[in-house]
Amino acid sequence: MRFSALKILQQGLTGNKGWTHHWRDPQPKSEYDIVIIGGGGHGLATAYYLAKRHGLTNIAVLEKGYIGGGNVGRNTTIVRANYGMPGNSEFYSHSLKLWEGLEQDLNYNVMHSQRGIINLFHSDGQRDAFAWRGNAIRNQGDDAELLDRNDLRKMLPYLNFDNARFPVRGGLLQRRGGTARHDAVVWGLARGADQRGVDIIQNCEVTGIDIENGKVKGVQTSRGAIRAKKVGIVVAGRSGQVAAMAGMRLPIESHILQAFVTEGIKPAIDHVVSFGMGHFYISQSDKGGLVFGGDLDFYASYASRGNLPMMEHVMEAGMALMPAIGKAKVLRSWGGIMDMTPDGSPIIDKTHVDGLFIDCGWCYGGFKAVPGSGDCFAHLIATDTPHPAAARFRLDRFKTGVGLMDEEGTGSQHNLH
Ligand SMILES: Cc1cc2nc3c(=O)[nH]c(=O)nc-3n(C[C@H](O)[C@H](O)[C@H](O)COP(=O)(O)OP(=O)(O)OC[C@H]3O[C@@H](n4cnc5c(N)ncnc54)[C@H](O)[C@@H]3O)c2cc1C
Repeated sequence: MRFSALKILQQGLTGNKGWTHHWRDPQPKSEYDIVIIGGGGHGLATAYYLAKRHGLTNIAVLEKGYIGGGNVGRNTTIVRANYGMPGNSEFYSHSLKLWEGLEQDLNYNVMHSQRGIINLFHSDGQRDAFAWRGNAIRNQGDDAELLDRNDLRKMLPYLNFDNARFPVRGGLLQRRGGTARHDAVVWGLARGADQRGVDIIQNCEVTGIDIENGKVKGVQTSRGAIRAKKVGIVVAGRSGQVAAMAGMRLPIESHILQAFVTEGIKPAIDHVVSFGMGHFYISQSDKGGLVFGGDLDFYASYASRGNLPMMEHVMEAGMALMPAIGKAKVLRSWGGIMDMTPDGSPIIDKTHVDGLFIDCGWCYGGFKAVPGSGDCFAHLIATDTPHPAAARFRLDRFKTGVGLMDEEGTGSQHNLH
């Protein structure tokens, strides 16, 4: 079934009875060429690109709950390519380009909206840092514009520009940045992978990884053993636990990140606005809700819910930046489990086990990475060589210290990245 304007019209006139399921619900087979553990954005994108680019279709994606129930359905949907460091810079540039063709590629409306992202600055020092970052982004071939206070007053009139502690002096704008609807990304990728023959198996928890003589042989699951020639681990906040099944100790800590949404209001915020000094960022969803969040909860946990002190901190920061927000009622808050690395940058690599691959460490920025990570991880699994855009995402950089990509400059504290 292909989506088109004609199809929607036709279905609308005939009672919407002709829509079919977007993906099948197959029973797991006893053996696959490739098993992907984790049906989040990255796992589904990996399966999709394995099938699309490499013609590999005897693949199962094993998801312990339902697809989209993890971070990919819990994030604040920001998509951007405004990183400054080699490694991250080329990877996120690659990912943003994939986003720009994703809807046509999937024949699915993921509501990708390039409404622009603005990172505010409040001091001369921060302005210099943003000018440097903007130049790095432009050198990479992506867009960045340094805006002054007057430019911003026209674009974001609702901000409190004269906050005593953090007066707004300007911002770094990336016009191609924006948002996408997270659930639709999951559904579109699942549909695309399924159409190419990939089995998406939900309610199937991986409980063990079978290894013989240093080579992966398959996985144990809550629905029985499944043999596989190659296995990819893509489980975000659960990376440490699943990698431990293969005897690995990852340089990852799992931390909680919360987000919030208000009742729907009339269109008020046209862009994504990030207030880094206050640990606050905000955008407005297509339904009208103000979607916002802040920093990690600052303690390691596997619970996908947060705590009150961070909630209070985020609300305070929001009120400091745009006092009018105080009139909107918060409808919901939720949390997700972040796989934090010591340098805040991800890992896409082989492991010490032949045929076992790992993709993790996306911290709180992995939604924008979904197509890029899927493409690069699929390339690694299919060809045994790293994709050029992800060649620096090596696991051993944490052992050797060579090639660290500490974008925030905060050192090896997982919870500060
Ligand atoms: C509140 C919040 C806001 C965020 N905002 C942004 C943002 O604005 N922009 C951005 O780029 N990123 C953002 N992120 C980060 C982003 O959501 C994550 O980095 C990204 O979604 C992680 O990759 P994933 O989609 O594959 O993870 P997940 O969706 O978590 O997928 C992993 C899957 O693995 C499954 N799994 C785990 N263990 C097993 C097992 N043993 N067997 C089988 N399956 C298993 C899980 O159930 C889960 O479905 C945010 C995250 C949160 C929580």
